[in-house]
Amino acid sequence: MKRTIVFVCAMVASGSVFSEGKSHWGYSGHEGPNHWASLSADNFACSGKNQSPINLSGFIESELIPIAFNYSNGGYEILNNGHTVQVNYKKGSSIKIDGTTFNLLQFHFHAPSENHINGHSYPLEAHLVHADNNGNLAVVAVMFKEGAANKGLTKAWAMMPKYEGDKHLLSAMVPVDDILPKERDYYRFNGSLTTPPCSEGVRWLVMKQEVTASEEQINAFKHVLHEPNNRPLQAINARAILK
Ligand SMILES: [Zn+2]
Repeated sequence: MKRTIVFVCAMVASGSVFSEGKSHWGYSGHEGPNHWASLSADNFACSGKNQSPINLSGFIESELIPIAFNYSNGGYEILNNGHTVQVNYKKGSSIKIDGTTFNLLQFHFHAPSENHINGHSYPLEAHLVHADNNGNLAVVAVMFKEGAANKGLTKAWAMMPKYEGDKHLLSAMVPVDDILPKERDYYRFNGSLTTPPCSEGVRWLVMKQEVTASEEQINAFKHVLHEPNNRPLQAINARAILK
């Protein structure tokens, strides 16, 4: 069984075949970001005008209302889907913004960061994915710089899913608060999923304060992904970036 998974992973890494049961895309070559819109009719939004990630700059001063965080401990499962490493979250954690409750579904990572802030790229970025009852999405993004080990990553990486398709229950649940900064001021813009189908209408809430991860923690993630999993910066077009 293990041997099969390794084999599939090796083929996917070479970009030569389709993986089982999902539309195939990647971060380089003919399946890379420049081709996502043409890989499938479902990906039409990838060529849209409100795409993520972006370089956050040219901010508009704004009285942003604090995000109301209602998080409890609940990261229970970790998986490798070939595009990222993701921690699935138990029901019952949410944020409130614009008078609407968005439930935390999962968080996952990109190395290097997808969004830039004032032209600055970070070695790692976490995306905390939330949905309201109508399926609208809100993503809280956290930037990591290299420094002290992050205790949330220590718990999650203890069960690192090394190969595409691997999924493990976490022996110690990961509280999402462990990967968030103390200060929760944020930048805000309208964007999209950063992976196919690149659906727009996503509320992006990027933490201003970064957190740290150790060099070993960052390298452990890069090692299982085989290639950088950051979509290139997208044009801002007519959007405002609020701070
Ligand atoms: Zn992401």
